[in-house]
Parts: sequence; C-alpha cells; structure tokens
Amino acid sequence: MIIDVHGHYTTAPAALGAWRDLQIAALKDPANAPSASALKISDDELRESIETNQLKKMRERGSDLTIFSPRASFMAHHIGDFQTSSTWAAICNELCARVAAMFPDHFVGAAMLPQSPGIDPASCLPELEKCVRDYGFVGLNLNPDPSGGHWTSPPLTDRHWYPLYEKMVELDVAAMIHVSTSCNACFHTTGAHYLNADTTAFMQCLTGDLFKDFPTLKFLIPHGGGAVPYHWGRFRGLAQELKKPLLDEHLLENVFFDTCVYHQPGIDLLTKVIPVKNVLFASEMIGAVRGIDPATGHYYDDTKRYIEATPHLSDADRQLVYEGNARRVFPRLDARLKAQGR
Ligand SMILES: [Zn+2]
Repeated sequence: MIIDVHGHYTTAPAALGAWRDLQIAALKDPANAPSASALKISDDELRESIETNQLKKMRERGSDLTIFSPRASFMAHHIGDFQTSSTWAAICNELCARVAAMFPDHFVGAAMLPQSPGIDPASCLPELEKCVRDYGFVGLNLNPDPSGGHWTSPPLTDRHWYPLYEKMVELDVAAMIHVSTSCNACFHTTGAHYLNADTTAFMQCLTGDLFKDFPTLKFLIPHGGGAVPYHWGRFRGLAQELKKPLLDEHLLENVFFDTCVYHQPGIDLLTKVIPVKNVLFASEMIGAVRGIDPATGHYYDDTKRYIEATPHLSDADRQLVYEGNARRVFPRLDARLKAQGR
C-alpha cells in the first residue's frame, strides 16, 4: 500500500477563494462579513474537483491513500484575527472532511488550525478536537510562524505551544510543521519561506529539549526537511557543541521527514543521510511545483518514481517509506486502515 502523507486541497472549487476574498474585504467593513453558510459547494462540484485532479493522478502514479489537508498557502494565518482564522479553518476543514467521507478508501483528513499571530495556541484546541473526533482526521498542520514570514511567535520548543502538544499526545495525532503564505517580500512562499521554516523547525528542536517533556510527540518536517539532510554534518556538529545527545537519540524518535523533493539526487541524498525509518512518502501533488521536468519528461512532483529508482533502497526499505512509517507516525490512520481490513 502506498500512502502519500502530504496532500492539500489545492483544487477546491473557485467559490472557496471567492468566499475568502469577501471575508478579507470585510475586515475593513465588518457589516459585509460573509457567513460560513453563504459558501455553497455541491457534492458534484467537490467530487469533480477531486476525481479530475488528485484522484486521477493517484491512479496514474499508483498511490492509494492521501493524508489530505486544506491548502497550506491559503491558511494565511496573518490575515485578520482569531475569529477570521477560526471561521476560515472551520470551512476549509469541513471541505476536507467531505472529501474524506466521499472517498474513504483514498483520502483521510489532517486539520488546519485557526492560528493567529499573538494568540494562545490553546484557542485552536476545539477545532482540532472536532476534526479528530467528529471528522476522523489523523493529523494536523502546525504553522510555526502565523505571522507569515516575520517569525513573531516563540520557538516550537517554548512552553507557549505546550497546550497544543498536550492535546496532540492525548489525541495521538502527529503534526506536519507547515508554514503558509509569506507576507515578507524577502521570502518567496514556496521557494524560500517553506524551506526556511522546515530548516528552522528542525534547528529549534535541536537546541531545545522538547521531546524530554513529550516523548511520544511526533513532528513531520515536510519538503524533505528543507536544508537539514544536505547539512546533516553541520547539525550533528552543532548538537555536539551544545552537549546534546546524538541526533538519533535526541530527535529521531520524534522527528520525521517527507519525500517532497523534486529530483532524483535529492531523494538519493535524503534516504542515504536520514534513517529510512524516519522518511515518509509524500508528493504534495498539484502543489507548488506543477510542471514537467524537461530532463526526465515526468512531473517534478511524481515523487514515487524517485523512490522506485533509488539504488540503495531495498524492498523492505520502500515498504517502510510507502506505508510502515506512516502507520507508525499516524496511529489513528493505522487503526482506521485496520478497521477497513487494510
Ligand atoms: Zn504542503
């Protein structure tokens, strides 16, 4: 079985973006704020948006199941206040829940949180609980920088975030550490801000002792871990100077990496440097990089091809990357698959 742990609803019907535009416009004129119920997307529209896009590509490329969350760049937690994010997150999560209910063999949800700059992460817990308990979601996306590129929140190891981690442990859900749109002109959203954030999140975990307090907490660092695998020697050396344990022991029971790296040498390096037990298959398909690589004739985000072609991976290694690791990192997914007899 092939589980893609990183998919977003990037192909939602245009009505969703139009509703968001109205919500943003109403920040200056609250009397015109749209109600959540003003958004109408029919089951047929929803079905078509998936069948002609993600599901079509999953069938073509041979993946079975996607952990599916709201479009990351649309989260834009820096816009408006907590109430703005709260309404927006509820709408986006509900759409993913409808997709998962419509295609239960192929999609399972992960939650967007209603984060907002300066807001206590505990405010996000009711939305997370609803997504996990009512919608059957198995994970969440945690934005370490709700300010959108200005990094005004404390590091992920700070007690500021602990109420969220306590709830994650209680619910047994893992977080993908995923920023949203950059509103800092220095950082391109998907080319710089995303990869910066992946690297930054890892380094925050390295300098702290978060997993001593939360030994079962699990973070998935997307986009192949940003600069982390490439600079693994630097991180090992820094950990040594900081008198931290070896990284295997310090971080690798809790921190995982996905395969959203869009070329063969990158995947070769990732899977050589990072233990296979810490690498989870993902494509983030129909996402940031949608084109065809002229050097190969294949889509950049058709990441299964790279896993297949990695010379040093055994069949057992590939099984871990495709399925075994995802079932371990997302225990609720494993339980759900077992209940389906998979
Ligand atoms: Zn993503």
